[in-house]
Amino acid sequence: MHLAVFGHPVTHSLSPRIHRLFGKQVGLEIDYRAIEAPAGTLARALSEFAAGGGTGCNVTLPLKEEAMALAGQCSDRVKRAGAANTLLATDDGWRAETTDGAGLVADLRRLDLDPAGKRLALIGAGGAAAGVTAALLETGPASLAVYNRNAKRAVGLATGHADLGPVSGHGLDALAEAGRSGDGFDLVLNATSLGHDGDRPPLARGLFAPRGVLYDLNYGEAARPLLSWARERAIPCHDGLGMLVGQAAESFRLWTGRVVDVAGVLRALKDGIPTDCDIP
Ligand code: NDP
Repeated sequence: MHLAVFGHPVTHSLSPRIHRLFGKQVGLEIDYRAIEAPAGTLARALSEFAAGGGTGCNVTLPLKEEAMALAGQCSDRVKRAGAANTLLATDDGWRAETTDGAGLVADLRRLDLDPAGKRLALIGAGGAAAGVTAALLETGPASLAVYNRNAKRAVGLATGHADLGPVSGHGLDALAEAGRSGDGFDLVLNATSLGHDGDRPPLARGLFAPRGVLYDLNYGEAARPLLSWARERAIPCHDGLGMLVGQAAESFRLWTGRVVDVAGVLRALKDGIPTDCDIP
């Protein structure tokens, strides 16, 4: 199968490695490439890819909105998020999906953090936050409060998902207030990109319920500032590598119909096992 991820820059992407591991796990020969495509070039890149036998692909920054606009069909989650991360070739052109939400929820369940019935805080209202909001609400949380520097974006995200569950949007300044109120969130999810600049959102210990947990959608170096902050305060915390593998697994399922063992691939990535090794 000819698969790919399009983005710019995309050479650093872990996706080729993850999908090769998936292919090996289920015995499918996968040719998954990372293809550089700056903004505005996706249509041309996709037709070349399809002409070469490409049947499915991921799209990452800065092409997620472009992918949605190019697709003939978009799932409900794509329409709500305003962006897609997965395209499937159909007889009627490309079908757009977003698998970030499914990947996040699968990872939370893997970690025994099912959001059902919990009080959730989502920090950030960019593409990643928009991609996971529907999936989080569909698990049936007690509430979901979205906080963002640009408060209008958080309110817009909440308004666009209000029919799915109890969701509200706020500015980042309201975080301090929430931290003082004493109720605390069971699960705080960081979906800002601050970690890429070595920074973290302004969280306080009081924001967390006594057994509250932090989940950072970032992974690798970008997750370090916030996870270090949480560990210093003995707040249980997880990075978003499991979500990354989970969203890839959902894309792989859409393309191939095959369900993979995410935990095995996650272990392989964490152990730094080369992609040509068998999955333990
Ligand atoms: P976007 O650029 O779309 O959004 C960035 C978000 O961070 C916005 O909410 C933005 O707020 C906020 N932000 C940026 N700078 C600041 C700042 N200085 N102060 C406060 N808030 C700030 O990025 P994405 O949503 O696509 O990605 C967010 C993060 O999630 C990235 O680090 C990415 O790596 C990670 N991610 C992880 C995935 C996984 O599978 N684990 C999948 C997708 C993303 P504002 O709206 O006010 O600008």
